[in-house]
Amino acid sequence: MSNHEPKPKRSKFIHTWFQRMNVESSSSNVVSEPSISSPNIDLELPLSIPEPNIDVEPPPSIPKPQNNINALERDPGLRCAIWKYPVNERDSIRKAYVLLGPFQPKLTFPFIKQGSQQRKFQFSWFKDNPWLEYSISLDRAYCFPCFLFDTENSRHHAFTVDGFKNWKRVCGVDNMLMKHVGGLNSPHHAAMHKWDLLRNPTKQIETFFQSKSLKDVEDNL
Ligand SMILES: [Zn+2]
Repeated sequence: MSNHEPKPKRSKFIHTWFQRMNVESSSSNVVSEPSISSPNIDLELPLSIPEPNIDVEPPPSIPKPQNNINALERDPGLRCAIWKYPVNERDSIRKAYVLLGPFQPKLTFPFIKQGSQQRKFQFSWFKDNPWLEYSISLDRAYCFPCFLFDTENSRHHAFTVDGFKNWKRVCGVDNMLMKHVGGLNSPHHAAMHKWDLLRNPTKQIETFFQSKSLKDVEDNL
């Protein structure tokens, strides 16, 4: 063992010497390159750090549900009345629903016993009444344009809040859908007209030009 003692010392010395050389070498590099390497590090760090974060973490800006059109409740029996939204949000909510259109699901509608017969909602009613909607959750019918422009003080909540379910009274003379549509000056027709203008902005412009003279238009510009 004693014969081997000097070797570790020499080895240690050599190792230490190399270490010193490395230190001197590296220190000389540090001395010779600070003006080049330091600015590079400062510039690269901010650029190189976010990259792994983008891959690992989810995008930071996920749209809020209320700003996402697909997050709006479609079922007329579950959705919130537009007049319950804050005043400054109602227009955008209304336009979002206009883009989505009436909720007219195609499914096997459930039978319910009304009088002596089993009756159910008929999908063909959508074709005859494009404004008609169906609530899957409540098995009731609603009116889309009346929902769009309904107000808290409205007295016509049958097709907006309550929902209609008396399927027996859809066919025949005593047709409740026709009664809801009413005459030309009915609240339903007014809502249909407003819905039409929102769906077709060009019609809104045509109506504007028809109702205003050219001079009035120039004054407004
Ligand atoms: Zn209506």
